[in-house]
Parts: sequence; C-alpha cells; structure tokens
Amino acid sequence: MTPVPFAYRRATSVQEAISLLTEHGEEAKAIAGGHSLLPIMKLRFAAPELLVDLGGIPDLDHIRVEGDEMVLGALARHSDLELSALLREEVPLLAHTAGLVGDCQIRHRGTLGGSVAHGDPSADLPATLVALRATVVVDGPGGRRTVPVDHFYTGFLETALAPDELVVELRVPRTGDAPWGYQKFRRRGIDWAIVGVAYQSEPGAGGIGLVNMGPTTLRAAAAEEALRAGADPAQVAALADQDTAPVGDASGSPEYRRHLARVLLSRALAGRNSS
Ligand SMILES: Cc1cc2nc3c(=O)[nH]c(=O)nc-3n(C[C@H](O)[C@H](O)[C@H](O)COP(=O)(O)OP(=O)(O)OC[C@H]3O[C@@H](n4cnc5c(N)ncnc54)[C@H](O)[C@@H]3O)c2cc1C
Repeated sequence: MTPVPFAYRRATSVQEAISLLTEHGEEAKAIAGGHSLLPIMKLRFAAPELLVDLGGIPDLDHIRVEGDEMVLGALARHSDLELSALLREEVPLLAHTAGLVGDCQIRHRGTLGGSVAHGDPSADLPATLVALRATVVVDGPGGRRTVPVDHFYTGFLETALAPDELVVELRVPRTGDAPWGYQKFRRRGIDWAIVGVAYQSEPGAGGIGLVNMGPTTLRAAAAEEALRAGADPAQVAALADQDTAPVGDASGSPEYRRHLARVLLSRALAGRNSS
C-alpha cells in the first residue's frame, strides 16, 4: 500500500512549521515520528497534500524540571522518556509507561507530542497523562495556550488542536516516589493494549486514566471519587468501568473490556506494573 503523492517540507523552527500549516490549512499535516500518520496514509484514510516535518526543529525534545513540574518537549521520543534517569526519579509512572509502548523501533521513532496529538484511545501515554493531570502546551498563529489534558480529547482521533496548531510541550506534576501503577493487558509483549489502566496517587486521592475504554482516553471519575471518599481498593476497582463505553472487536467484547478494567485497576492500586 502506498500513500497518495504529497509534498514535503522540513521545518527548522516551531514558527516556520506553524506558518506552513497556516498557509496550507486542512491540506497540510505535521509529521513527527510518522509511526501513526504514515500507516493511515498508506491505508489512504488520510491524504495530506503537504507533510510538515517537525524532526529538524532543535531543542524540542527537552526533559527538564521547572518548579513543581516536569516539562517535556513534544519531540521527546518514547525511548527518551523511558531511559531518562531524571524522569524515572521525578515521574516514574510516565517513564514506565513509555517503556511499554510498542517495541524498541516504535519507541525510538514515536514522539510524546505525536502520541498526544494523534488522539488514539488505544495509546498508552495519554492515559498516564490523564492520571497525572498533565497540561498540554499548544502553539499556533495566535500564540501559546495551555489545555488541561481532560479538555484535550474531544472525540475518536479528535483533539482540541486547530489544524495550524502544534503540541510543543507537556507539563506534568513531579510525583517523586508517591505510589503509582500501570497495567497494560495485551496478547503479546509488543501489542497495543486491549485495555490499560494508569494510576497515580495524590494525598487523599488519586488520578486514574483508562486506555481503550471508549472513543477517547478516559478518566475513571467514579473510581477517583471513591478513592477520595476513603473507599477500600476493592470498592474503588469495582467502579473502574463506570461511565465508559468500550467497543467490541476481535480482541474482546465490551463486557470483557469492562471486566479487564476492574481487574487491572485493582492491580494498579496495589502498585503492580506490567513489564
Ligand atoms: C506497529 C506499531 C505499534 C504501536 N504500538 C503502540 C503501543 O503499544 N502503544 C502506544 O501508545 N502507541 C503505539 N504505537 C503508536 C506510536 O506510539 C506512535 O509513534 C505515536 O502514537 C505517534 O507518534 P509519532 O511521533 O509517530 O506521530 P506521527 O505519526 O508523526 O503523527 C501522528 C499524528 O499527530 C500529529 N502530530 C505529530 N506531532 C505533532 C505535534 N507536535 N503537534 C501537533 N500534531 C502533531 C500528526 O499530524 C498526526 O496527525 C504503535 C505504532 C506502530 C506503528
């Protein structure tokens, strides 16, 4: 399968990329790692006339501490997150999750910004960012704005990004050694999650993100509320699938996914992690 012909420009700055996207509107697409965009172009589900490559933009793969937050550049690759000693210390849930994305090749090409912007409910990192209550930093012709990750996902493969806006950073609270857990259920080690659950504790509460339990990455709000109210882990886990809408497919029925969400949350609350 081959994509329809397209033009290619390699941007050297965020501003140049935004100008190209603004000039070409809906006909242009940014490309970072290409590991989500190129497959859908080959299937001809997407046929942009122009690809604006972000890969040549310097200094957009940073991983640094700023006050109470970790600031992560959009071009940080999954392997950068996985292997960062700083991130492992400051936000271990995120580093661990990055190490579970696909296989080595995927992790060496795929980027944080691409994973966030693609809006795939099967993706691992967005659920962890929901659990962490991250903020997406967006740049566009009107300047920079921040979007809480809860408001970023608007539908299946749809986000709050305008066609001429870019994700430039993710801001994530530093959690240190506060308890966390990430559970990814899949048939083989390199597969996408059939269901995934990310849990990050906070004083008296906790953030819980769900993979593949609806048309977007979801927050398990009822389970979080029960945690805040002091419910025991079994009661909290029983609420994992409340207000979700999982689909049925070759990997499992909606009921199977609901069951998985409850089991996986009970494991994540106990601090158990997929490897
Ligand atoms: C075989 C395979 C297995 C995989 N397994 C997993 C898995 O287990 N878990 C998982 O989470 N993911 C998985 N992925 C997806 C992988 O993580 C992708 O790399 C990632 O989702 C997208 O990142 P990218 O940099 O490749 O984005 P691209 O493919 O370059 O872009 C994806 C979309 O985001 C847009 N975009 C990219 N960067 C930006 C930006 N900075 N600002 C605005 N828009 C942007 C593009 O225009 C495009 O619409 C898998 C992919 C493959 C091919």
